[in-house]
Parts: sequence; C-alpha cells; structure tokens
Amino acid sequence: MLLTDNISVLKNVGEQRQAILGRLGIETIGDLLEFFPRDYLDRSKISKVAGLYHGQMVTVLVWQHGIVATRNVSGKTITRINFCDDTGRVAITWFNQPYMSTSFKAGEKYYISGRVSWDAHGVSIENPEWERVGDANLSAGRIVPVYRLTSGLTQKIIRPIIKQALDSIKDQIEEFLPEKIITSQGLCGRSFAVENIHFPSSAENYFTARKRLVFDELFLMQSAMFMAKGQLKHKILEDNKWDYMDINPILAALPFELTPDQLKVVQEITADISSGYALNRLLQGDVGSGKTAVAMIICYLAVKNKTQAAVMAPTETLAVQHHQAFTKIFEPFGINCALLNGSLKASEKKNIKNRLEAGEIDIIIGTHALLQENVTFSKLGLVITDEQHRFGVRQRAALTEKGSIPHTLVMTATPIPRSLAMVLYGDMDISAIRQLPPGRQPIDTYSVTKSYHQRIFSFIAKEIDQGHQAYIICPLIQKDDDENEKKTQSKNEITQVIKFAQELKDSVFTNYNVGILHGKMKPAEKNEIMEAFAKNDVQILVSTTVVEVGINVPNATVIMIENAERFGLSQLHQLRGRVGRSEKKSYCILVTDAKNEVTQKRMQAMTKTNDGFTLSELDLELRGPGEFFGTAQHGLPRMQLANLYKDTDVLAAARDAAIKTFDGQQPSYAPLLNKVKQMLGKIKQISL
Ligand code: ADP
Ligand code: MG
Repeated sequence: MLLTDNISVLKNVGEQRQAILGRLGIETIGDLLEFFPRDYLDRSKISKVAGLYHGQMVTVLVWQHGIVATRNVSGKTITRINFCDDTGRVAITWFNQPYMSTSFKAGEKYYISGRVSWDAHGVSIENPEWERVGDANLSAGRIVPVYRLTSGLTQKIIRPIIKQALDSIKDQIEEFLPEKIITSQGLCGRSFAVENIHFPSSAENYFTARKRLVFDELFLMQSAMFMAKGQLKHKILEDNKWDYMDINPILAALPFELTPDQLKVVQEITADISSGYALNRLLQGDVGSGKTAVAMIICYLAVKNKTQAAVMAPTETLAVQHHQAFTKIFEPFGINCALLNGSLKASEKKNIKNRLEAGEIDIIIGTHALLQENVTFSKLGLVITDEQHRFGVRQRAALTEKGSIPHTLVMTATPIPRSLAMVLYGDMDISAIRQLPPGRQPIDTYSVTKSYHQRIFSFIAKEIDQGHQAYIICPLIQKDDDENEKKTQSKNEITQVIKFAQELKDSVFTNYNVGILHGKMKPAEKNEIMEAFAKNDVQILVSTTVVEVGINVPNATVIMIENAERFGLSQLHQLRGRVGRSEKKSYCILVTDAKNEVTQKRMQAMTKTNDGFTLSELDLELRGPGEFFGTAQHGLPRMQLANLYKDTDVLAAARDAAIKTFDGQQPSYAPLLNKVKQMLGKIKQISL
C-alpha cells in the first residue's frame, strides 16, 4: 500500500464509501491520514456501574445479564437490555433499533459509552456507542477520536478505516523535517505524530503529536510564503544604494506637520534604506492615519537618488486619487508623476510606457496595469503597494522584478493581529502608525435596529443640510460557493441596492442627489460617481462595499451600514474609516436586527473603540478556535490543527526555523523542498 493509493485498496471501502469519503476531500490513503479528528472523547477511564450518577458521561465494561424487552411506545420501538459488571446492573436502551436485541452474545464483554440517567426503574444509558472487547477497540477504553462526518458516515465506520490505513502504512509516513529542526525544537517524529493524533495512546502523547503537527503546518506555511515571495528579509543592495537622505524639502512641501508616529515610521524606513540592505517593510496604519504622506516622502528620496518609484493601488479610483495628491506635491519640485491604469486609451498607455522606459517619468502610479510585461522602467528603485491585501503575492513580486532589488514598502489599512502578521509577513519588518493626525475626533458609533431607519434618515438629512455628505452601505450577500449561484445572487443583490437607493431618492431624500456605486459598474462609471461625490455634486452615496478601499472624501460625516451583521469586525472598522477624515464630527450607524451573541459583541466593540488594532485582536478572539481569522480572506489554505489565536508560541518557533532554513538559499533537503512546494501549490491565490 502506498500513500498515493486510492482508498479503495482498503478493506470495507467500496464504491459507496469511496464516494462518501470523497465528499470530505478524501481520495488517497495520504488524504485519509491527514484527515485529523475534530475532537476527542476521553474514554480511557472505565467506570464501575455501582458508582454511576445521573447525567455523567461514562464508559463501562459490562456483559449481558438477563432480559431483553422490546416495547412500542407511541410509534417507537424501545429495546431495553440489562447488562452488569461485578458491582451492579445497568439497563441499556435503544430507540428504533430492534435488531439490538440479538446483537450481544452471552459470555462476551462490551464497552458501552454514553450518558447515565437515573429514573424510577434504576440506572440506564440510552443510545450508547458500544463495542465488543477484543475487537479493534477504537471507540472505548481509550482516548477516542471524533471525526467530521457527512451523511452516510458514522464514527463507527470511519474509525476502523483510518486505523486500518494507519496500521498498514505508518512506516511510509515521510519525515520531511531535517533532523536538526526536530531536535532543536524538541519535536517527535512525524509518523508517531500522525498515529497519535488519530489514536492517542495517552493524553501526553496526544499533546506531543499535536505540537509536532501544528509546527509542521505553520512551518510549511511560512516556508511556502518565503518561497512564494522569492526573497527573504534582507537582500544586500548592489546597484540601488541611496546616498541622498535629506527629507526636509519634502517635509516643508507637505501641508501639515507629520505626527510623531509618521515621523517614527519614516525614520525606521530611512534607517532600513541606509543599512545597505533592501527595504522590505510592511506599514500598518489605520484608515486615515496618513500613510500616503509616508509614501510620498520615500518616493521623494527615490527620485532624488535618481531612481524611479512605482506606487500600485488596487482600484482605479484610488490610483486616480493618489495621482492627484502626488502631482500636487511633486509638480513644484519638477518631479514627474504619471498615471497608468486599464481605462486609458491604448495610445496614452503606449506614450506613458515609452516615457517610463526612457526615464522621463519619475513616479508612476497605477493599478494592476503596472504589472504588464511591457511595462519597463529605466531604473526602478522603489515599489510601494497600497492596500496590499488586494494583491496576490506573485503580483507584488512581479512588480519588484522590474527593478534590480528595489526597496519595497507595502501599506495596509487593515490592522491584523500579531500572530497573523507573523504568518503573512514573516519575512518582513513591520511598522505601525497607531495615532491619528491631530484634530480628529473619534467617530461616534451607534448600533440600532431597522426600526430606527426613519430617525437615521432624518439625522442624515440634517448633516447634509449642514453641507456634509453621507455613505449608505448595503452589503451584497454571497452565501454560496457555487459560481452560478453567486452570479445570480449578486445580480439580485445589485437590483436590491439600486431599488433601495431609488426608494431613498424618491421618498426621504428627494431634495438631495443620491449616487449609486456597486461592483458590477464599469471603472469609468465608478470614477464618474466618485468624482461627483468628491465634488459634493452627490450628497449621499449608496454603495455595496466597494467604498471599503481607501476612498478619501473628508466632507463625508455619516456612514450608515445596513445589515451590519454581515461584516466582520475588521471590515466594519474599515468601512467606518470612510468618515472621520477631517476635523468635522463624524458618525457611524450600524443597523442590524440580528440578535446572536457574536453580532452583539461585534456591535458593542465597534461602539466602544475606534482602535483598529484592538478590534483586529478581538475579531480573532470572537471568531474563535476552529475558524482561523483572516486565513480565508487572505487566501491561505485552511489550517487543519493550528489555531492562530492559541498557538502563538509554536508559530514564533516555526517562523524562526523557517527563516533559518530558507535564509540565503533554498534548503537542499529534498523531502522538505517537495513538501514546501506542495504547500506552495495550495496558496497560489494568496493575497498579500
Ligand atoms: P491612509 O493612511 O488611510 O492612507 P491618508 O494618507 O489618506 O490616510 O490620510 C488621511 C487624511 O489625513 C488625508 O486627508 C491627509 O491629508 C491627512 N493627513 C495625513 N497626515 C496628516 C498630518 N500629519 N496632519 C494632518 N493631516 C494629515
Ligand atoms: Mg490610503
């Protein structure tokens, strides 16, 4: 038997079970072994019948003793059999399983596990799990694995199948970690770990096994990331050394003084640049914290050092906005900024590309269009990616490769918990701007039910009468993974958004201009609406979540978020960041009728704090173990065992080990390299 064999080579796995297991993603023996339990039952302790109490979950070791009674009670058959051990008697009952009456043999002993109840007839256990002593004994007398199931599958079916596979293949489970890592981390062998994660021979061995497998998961993930990024922390600069480091002229040109946090980050960045190694830094800063100014300062240095800078933004709107802001600051210096995005005419694109290649453009700002193969630079010295989580890691690498080791700065307005940052950006230095520019007032946040609609609309009208503007967010639902379903769904949803906006226009907001923005609009249409909103030609922007990404309209003071329960905390916080971008008092109104605990906690957190970092940590906690924060949204493969909230120690160890292993060169150990490449295949879509 081989790990790559189809599960049909196993006994008791025919076509039907093959199909059932297939639904769980299990095709090969290897898949089966990596289908780890979702939980365990400790049935290692065997209780004596004499000591049982009501409500207790127990396992007893008993034999049949006396009568079998089958009764019919309101359409149900109840089969009741008496069992005993040497301390007493216990009745076991089954509902609608009349065949139980002949399932037990005299002279045999059985493990029976279930919940005890005491009633007028004495002590009993209902609908238990049971197993004959001397059989495989996978369901009792030990710590018992509990697997994720699907219809047609029971624990009693899957346990022996997995045991069978384990027994016949355990010697082939590959040890892909180099000996050095295993010893230095105090890990057990992979084969021992796989065996004991399924059928732990003791609690201690389970923990040992779990630690090893969590380490493997995180280590492979980190290693794959390093490989995907194609670079590790510090690359020595050869022909991109910057000597000009005077930022005073650009500081003087900015319309404000930098905040201490902005200044600190600029210093961290310039220190990196002066170190002789390439800058490779992630800048986290809440929405409105002023990351753009930092980007401008570094771009200024790039140009002064006779190199070009590229600033990549995820949407055309944002690219246009950046281009305007950059041009305003850089024009007086005689520094050329240009915009490259998908909606330019072919001739314009060509012109820009030519000038870029000739070195006539100093700072190019654009969307994904920058990644095209025919975009070449005369000398690319700096790559800045804004709102980086919208880009794939390979896309970022593709831009970097257009230069010879350019300095790299990635910026994100989505603060992420430390542990996740470690997984996603383990190879980078991390800076944070935590403080907002002066004069900002915290955004007052309220959580209300839909019954408040009219009051909210009057409030919005009042704000607009004072010359301010408002966002109204209506989320799209994407319930299903099915693509077709998704398309029709989102089409319906868009009609809904349009309808909702139309109703508002016709009823409460007849005196104002209401604009609609949604994801299915063409970039040109979106730009048009956004521009109208920026100019205050449109006072109310009804939108799906497209406004989430870095839009800056300081005159907007209210954001109302309909069906707020559909968003995670981080996303709500992102949306809230669309307002509060000036000295004007701003408001965020979360509207939800959902009553569940997680929603309530989210709403409470939003009303209580404005700090994105605090919210992101809480988001991780609220999502809880099992649902690993942000992994899906960042395109990471689902983690089987690792819990980013709890396994932070192992995570740190795995990261350090991965850095050591991959620093400088690829590891020569073939089994490891293969395993990492496999993992890399799974994270192709990753967004960093
Ligand atoms: P983000 O970090 O979300 O990209 P921006 O760079 O767009 O934030 O900045 C948000 C707003 O704050 C902009 O209008 C910008 O001009 C302003 N701003 C940035 N830094 C400062 C500062 N130090 N003092 C005052 N205003 C600032
Ligand atoms: Mg920004």
